Amino acid sequence: MGNGHNLGSALQYFGQAKKRINDIFKEIGEYIIETDQFVDGFKDKVGGIMEILARDRMKVAFFGRTSNGKSTVINAMLRDKIMPSGIGHTTHCFIQVEGTDSQEGFLLTEESDQPQSINSIKQLAHNLSAVKLEENSLVRILWPKSKCKFLKEDVIFVDSPGIDVTQQLDSWIDKYCLDADVFVLVGNAESTLMQTEKNFFHKVSSRLSSPNIFILLNRWDVSVLEEDVEEVRLQHLDRNLGFLVDELKVVSNKKEAEDRIYFISAREALISRLHQDKGTPTPTGTLQEGFQGRLFEFANFERKFEECISKSAVQTKFEQHTKRGKLITSEVRGVMEESYHKSLTKTEEQVKEYREKCDELDYLGKQLKLLTYEVKDKIKLMVEDVERKVASALND
Ligand code: GDP
Repeated sequence: MGNGHNLGSALQYFGQAKKRINDIFKEIGEYIIETDQFVDGFKDKVGGIMEILARDRMKVAFFGRTSNGKSTVINAMLRDKIMPSGIGHTTHCFIQVEGTDSQEGFLLTEESDQPQSINSIKQLAHNLSAVKLEENSLVRILWPKSKCKFLKEDVIFVDSPGIDVTQQLDSWIDKYCLDADVFVLVGNAESTLMQTEKNFFHKVSSRLSSPNIFILLNRWDVSVLEEDVEEVRLQHLDRNLGFLVDELKVVSNKKEAEDRIYFISAREALISRLHQDKGTPTPTGTLQEGFQGRLFEFANFERKFEECISKSAVQTKFEQHTKRGKLITSEVRGVMEESYHKSLTKTEEQVKEYREKCDELDYLGKQLKLLTYEVKDKIKLMVEDVERKVASALND
């Protein structure tokens, strides 16, 4: 009877072991689904970062009083008359120039999502004053990247309405400056920096940690006609160095600050570049004496500007992304490792259990064998016994 019971249990072991191993794999499966969902969350995060990266560009914002020559500076840098210049401020909006892959330039306003074509600058100026634009709204000019190296390299230019025409400097900073990589203050070499111009940069530097500021003293072609030009230059330089180093404290020393101040003529730079690109000689009389020095200074400014803007953009934009990327990778690795170790332990447990079951089954097998022999012997004895009994009965 006892043997019969053993045989029953032996068969049950298979069933029990099968259930157990099934449960373990169910658990592992659930764990993997959970891990998958967790890792899927990272997929969204990584997608988000890639989207930001695709949008990331280097932004330069121009400030200064109306008519100091902000638009002309931008046009000279773009080597094209894109910004309406000399129209004063019929509009109090910000104008942003950015690159597009299309062959034609077009205009986008906050009021409409319909792109408007810009065939001429006159028309653009007309458009800007004709449409009723919200004060301090943004007008975007999308200009073919193929026409300008800065646009090709993902630099965007933002021209402001003129520091003297608005009271809303705080909202400007919030809306347009917090993500700017470089600020260019376009001053007028014929006068000193105004308090409003200074105040604006005080505000900027209190909101942004050490903003990159360049100061352009424009209209130097006019000042240069004065007798005491060298003295005027030194005075300007000294005041502006003091402003950057001692007042704003955005540059640590005067030597470095000298790379942030330039005496230029945007007008001459623009005229000579337009002729250069067309391959026509610049008419005599359009450039003032000593213009080569000013053109050289403008090119120098651009070189320093390029260095500064790309370094700043890499630091402010990519450094953050790199940190987040590292964090995500290490978190995902952690999850994978944990999942691997857990399933490894589960499998080990299960293998151990299986071995134990095998040992038991082995033992039972041996028992069964013995039992079979015993039964065989018994049957043999019984047969012999019966034979004997039959023989003696026959003899009787
Ligand atoms: P914004 O209001 O600061 O954008 O100034 P604009 O770029 O519209 O320039 C105002 C006027 O000054 C225009 O007539 C320009 O041609 C002129 N202008 C700009 N830069 C210079 C310069 O370097 N020298 C001279 N002489 N005139 C300039």
